[in-house]
Amino acid sequence: MEILLANPRCYCAGVDRAVQIVELAIDTFGAPVYVRKEIVHNQFVVNRLRDLGAVFVEELSEVPEDSLVVFSAHGVAPSIHEEAKERQLRVIDASCPLVTKVHLEVLRFVKEGYHIAFIGRKGHEEVEGTMGHAPDHITLVEDVEQAGTVELPSDKKLMVLMQTTLSVDDTKVVVNALRERYPNLELPPTEDICYATQNRQDAVKEMCETGIGLLLVVGSHNSSNAARLVEVAQRRGVPGYRIDNANELSPDWLNGVELIGLTGGASTPDEVVQSVIVRLKELGADNVRMCTAAEENVVFQLPLVLKEAESKFPKRQPATK
Ligand code: SF4
Repeated sequence: MEILLANPRCYCAGVDRAVQIVELAIDTFGAPVYVRKEIVHNQFVVNRLRDLGAVFVEELSEVPEDSLVVFSAHGVAPSIHEEAKERQLRVIDASCPLVTKVHLEVLRFVKEGYHIAFIGRKGHEEVEGTMGHAPDHITLVEDVEQAGTVELPSDKKLMVLMQTTLSVDDTKVVVNALRERYPNLELPPTEDICYATQNRQDAVKEMCETGIGLLLVVGSHNSSNAARLVEVAQRRGVPGYRIDNANELSPDWLNGVELIGLTGGASTPDEVVQSVIVRLKELGADNVRMCTAAEENVVFQLPLVLKEAESKFPKRQPATK
């Protein structure tokens, strides 16, 4: 039994930056550092940062005045910044720059008179943050069924934008369905689904073509991009399972499987994937080989207030081995 390991997998540049921001904030300003929502959707990461001194809260009302609060990688609505200001909180915004790009698109297109059809998952923090930038000018479209029934204003120019971590293939289907009903619907000049989502999905597609009999995706239950990776395999007839860690791996899944595809969602640290490899070897895997779909070298700058502290920490190595 062999393991086919996806490259790229695990941390993207936005998640790496967000996690570093919390680590450096604790190191620079001391614990506790409050974090609104899970900094990234991964239980292992959240637990480790909690041990270092991060305090995770759902809402700003739980943060004592004058405290330091970090906003998560998923981005926030302007109303959250205003609330922080009113409560005199010190803020470091760990929103991924690619999410911020979508926020700026919303503001720009609304200013230019567009109404926006936003493809995304209801209740996801990124969707709430993005829609909060112009709630009266955005309509959420979750899937192809909704694309067939949603009512968009007929007297406005229409633009479609989307959550950064969706399935590339499914999103095309939704856009096409919307365009059948609204031929004047426009697309932004550059893709909203981010490079990391695209590359991780491409790696899974390549692994499916290579002939894996099973896909394991390491990622937490609330990770959108991990869930989409499982779907990519399942759509190609390959059984796929999402596991948070090695303990959730069921030996029964391996029955009759010669080649196991293994990857990690964009918010999963590679060390968790490595622990799954150890477990798979205990269960009989005797070789690991790589399936490379793309090379990644994207790095996002840290906020200025933390740049100095950065030099104290060694750079993380990307998960390519
Ligand atoms: S998945 Fe993409 S948009 Fe989300 S944090 Fe990573 S790089 Fe940013």
